Amino acid sequence: MQRKYLIAGNWKLNMNQAQTESFLQELTSELDAIKNISHIETMVIPPFTSLEKAKNTIRAKSLPFKLGAQDLSQYDSGAYTGEISAEMLMEIGVDYVLVGHSERREIFLENDSVINAKLKQALAKGLKVILCCGESEATRDAGATDSWVCNQIESALQGLDFNSLNLPQNLVVAYEPIWAIGTGKVCQADEANRVISVIRNKLASILGKNIADQIRILYGGSVKGSNIDEIIQQSDIDGALVGGASLKKEDILAIIKSTAENFSTNKQPA
Ligand code: PEP
Repeated sequence: MQRKYLIAGNWKLNMNQAQTESFLQELTSELDAIKNISHIETMVIPPFTSLEKAKNTIRAKSLPFKLGAQDLSQYDSGAYTGEISAEMLMEIGVDYVLVGHSERREIFLENDSVINAKLKQALAKGLKVILCCGESEATRDAGATDSWVCNQIESALQGLDFNSLNLPQNLVVAYEPIWAIGTGKVCQADEANRVISVIRNKLASILGKNIADQIRILYGGSVKGSNIDEIIQQSDIDGALVGGASLKKEDILAIIKSTAENFSTNKQPA
């Protein structure tokens, strides 16, 4: 099954508007020089207040980046202090939104039902979703990785009217073992590939094999320019969700370049 590679940079709580503009501008000429870049999908995911600046810079410089947001509210509008709605994101031109990132789950205590509500809200309003899942070190040590991630997927998709949503186009899953996020400990590429195929089988049991085979599943957790090749060459890994390295010009360019190079040797685009 042919799936288009996706490299998404999650900037987390970094990059004000001025930094966003200069960082993106500095990438322009190097991105232009990357062969086959049009065959892969690339994305930046800035904090809310830098989204509009990113959008305008992407447009002004004709950069290949899609725009992602790091979170959304499950509500439309009303007395929800601090929340940002799907429609507000779409007004800026946001394409994708992260749902279920482990930092939202662990630090901001988002539980499965909130994640389920956010996923449904995003898709209903026309935003594409990158749904994150992944186990803690303790869960891995207990040998419960597969059941843990499968439960996360099942809860997130609970009650979704998937026949009316074009999920191959609108849903991406990111497998991000928590112990590998921001720690420098990368999951072995073949083990990440194995868990990702478990996730794909779970998706198939919920959505049917045809849909599951078309949904992209990314790996995330300490991806850098130096390890992307091994990751992207795995049969079931369709790209990477990149945190820390997406803030470093050399790293993100190397990640995008390697992925675009692997496009011709490994997979053809969907
Ligand atoms: C992330 O936050 O999604 C992530 C994968 O971070 P890092 O690449 O820094 O491990």
